Amino acid sequence: MNRISEYLEITDRKTGKRDVCCSKCGYILGPLSKGIYSGAVTRNMIPNEISPVYTKTDQTLFRLYYCPGCATQLKVEPIVKEAPRPPQLPEIEL
Ligand SMILES: [Zn+2]
Repeated sequence: MNRISEYLEITDRKTGKRDVCCSKCGYILGPLSKGIYSGAVTRNMIPNEISPVYTKTDQTLFRLYYCPGCATQLKVEPIVKEAPRPPQLPEIEL
């Protein structure tokens, strides 16, 4: 097995192919070819749900990835939403 993060490893033990598995419980998250976190359970949280230190904002949220086998938190990924586009202005002919 090759460790790729604190709680994830690459294994070929169960399927003969390179799979990502949880190093704590051995749960197979899926083939490495589909991505490291493709089989993880995800949850999106706004910053003030994580800590009251953060203020509520519409521009950022956090995506948390968990092992489906043991609920170990695998990763926290900040996601910046696109700012809303300004309304289209009518074209002006010069
Ligand atoms: Zn696990």
